[in-house]
Amino acid sequence: MKYALVTGGSRGIGRAICLKLSAMGYSVLVNYQSNQEAAEETKQQIEANGGAAELLSFNVADGDAVDKVLSEWQLTHTEDYIAVLVNNAGIRKDNLMFWMSDNEWNNVLDTSLNGTFYTTRVLVKYMMTKKFGRIINIVSISGINGMAGQTNYAAAKAGVIGMTKALALETAKKKVTVNAVAPGFIETDMTQDLNQEELKKIVPMGRFGKAEEVAELVGFLASENAEYVTGQVISISGGL
Ligand code: NAP
Repeated sequence: MKYALVTGGSRGIGRAICLKLSAMGYSVLVNYQSNQEAAEETKQQIEANGGAAELLSFNVADGDAVDKVLSEWQLTHTEDYIAVLVNNAGIRKDNLMFWMSDNEWNNVLDTSLNGTFYTTRVLVKYMMTKKFGRIINIVSISGINGMAGQTNYAAAKAGVIGMTKALALETAKKKVTVNAVAPGFIETDMTQDLNQEELKKIVPMGRFGKAEEVAELVGFLASENAEYVTGQVISISGGL
């Protein structure tokens, strides 16, 4: 069995990635934090298409919880390993820097930056031992260009970009690739509060993207065909 873990797989971009990886033949481990109903829906959609899925609930920002759940999974799957890891879980807590609370700063960094570290640290050693692995980190255009009101989010995503490039150098010889995907505006719960009519005017393609479009790119990076692509940040933003 080939296994893939998608953090934040219950909704939005994560759910679309779960469906794509399932269609590619992976048995998908769907991580979520609290929205079990949405996670069940992802699982049901995978199974309705003939795939296999397992729900794994943990908070990516809690290093002990990540270690415990993933170690227990490994103990019950001694013949298998997780070959594809998509670090997708993320949150936004926008505010201008001079109003930003410690919680707004820490929660966003804990989820995106520390969460990516915790999951990757556990799984990368199995990938290197097996000499095949794909790590795909979902970052953001905000982490490349910056965006007003998002100093926390931009710092977290820029941190993940640095991690991606450095880890790619550590793992290249073991055929484990590490890349980042940087979406622009994608239609999901995360962007529901944004004024889409106004914001799409600044997107050269004149529209928000779809979660399935991001999932296609992730699917390519997860595939064996992407063997020679590592340490890269690939934007998917309608030209933004
Ligand atoms: P979303 O619809 O808000 O979904 C967020 C997902 O992350 C949910 O599955 C949620 O689980 C999970 N999650 C949040 N905190 C978590 C934690 N501490 N531990 C485990 N899971 C956690 O978001 P989205 O728009 O799909 O975004 C997915 C990723 O793409 C994020 O990293 C985001 O920063 C990035 N991104 C999004 C856009 C965009 O325009 N949408 C643009 C650029 C980058 P629950 O369902 O249990 O809450």
